[in-house]
Amino acid sequence: MKKRILVTGGGGFIGSHLCGRVLKEGHEVLCVDNFFTGSKRNIVHLMDDPYFEILRHDICFPLYVEVDEIYNLACPASPVHYQKDPVQTTKVSVLGSINMLGLAKRLKIKILQASTSEVYGDPEIHPQPETYWGNVNPTGPRACYDEGKRCAETLFFDYHRQHKIKIKVVRIFNTYGPRMHPNDGRVMSNFIVQALKNESITVYGDGTQTRSFCYVDDMVEGIIKMMNSPDDFTGPVNLGNPEEYRIIDLAEKIIDLTGSRSKIVFKPLPQDDPKRRRPDITLAKKKLVWEPKTPVKEGLNKTIAYFEELMRKREL
Ligand code: NAD
Ligand code: UDP
Repeated sequence: MKKRILVTGGGGFIGSHLCGRVLKEGHEVLCVDNFFTGSKRNIVHLMDDPYFEILRHDICFPLYVEVDEIYNLACPASPVHYQKDPVQTTKVSVLGSINMLGLAKRLKIKILQASTSEVYGDPEIHPQPETYWGNVNPTGPRACYDEGKRCAETLFFDYHRQHKIKIKVVRIFNTYGPRMHPNDGRVMSNFIVQALKNESITVYGDGTQTRSFCYVDDMVEGIIKMMNSPDDFTGPVNLGNPEEYRIIDLAEKIIDLTGSRSKIVFKPLPQDDPKRRRPDITLAKKKLVWEPKTPVKEGLNKTIAYFEELMRKREL
């Protein structure tokens, strides 16, 4: 059955891929975005589709539309972007979630929240299972995002318990791929752009901190599987790639794959930067029969090709 699906943050990196996939599956998409970090360029290829609609709107304000399902992705996601206007970052997670949950309540529909591995903060347990409650500094520079997303999870579970809303919560770990913002300061985009321009690769700290990177197609597959899983499975469920990399090793891999002449330089580690991060995806494997399939070399090559294309078009 054709559904009308609302994707908030649909003009962003992950949201634009999600809009494309949902349309391909034969549904209608209403993409709601205020284009704070997203861009029309991410969705321009979808605009000829009569079943794709864009609404410029800030979800911190109420929204009255008629839809059958909601994917709530609106929120700046990279430290550089979410620290630019930290008060707005907390607002979009808290007020935005209240508005979208209110919409789901009025329409009696299912709503999925894009939560994050940042709810685990600088984790003391490794890898991180969903049962771990996290180690977040509530007053630090990352708190606007981390605590905002934690509060959003609280709101989702309270709306579920109190108002019987059908909820789905996914905790997304570092995701990469085409349409990442070139200036969002994230490690993948920074390193690839620096390598393509033969500029110094900026490793923060000594580069021994780790992250685990999931290719965007795999992530979107996981998000959709979660939305379509049985109603009694609310999550939270981790989605991410359990392959863990030291940041220094990632820098060397990108230099190698791009054939760059860049040299590595070391810069101070930002405050509260998590030392290690790797998802335990046992739950996603069991409940969603999902795990990432894209080998890192393939994912990196596709992402590098995207940034090369931007460079050719002088958009970098
Ligand atoms: P992104 O910044 O590319 O996309 C976010 C989108 O939300 C943008 O298009 C932005 O303009 C829009 N937006 C921001 N504030 C809004 C508001 N008030 N009203 C309407 N739209 C608004 O980020 P992304 O990487 O695509 O992340 C998407 C979601 O996934 C976010 O909720 C993020 O927290 C979550 N997430 C992403 C990652 C990752 O590695 N990319 C990791 C964990 C969680
Ligand atoms: N990082 C880095 N150089 C950069 C950008 C990021 O060494 O130019 C490091 C950063 O300190 C962190 C890791 O890479 O340890 C991932 O950073 P990112 O901002 O991509 O995501 P997050 O910290 O939110 O996982």
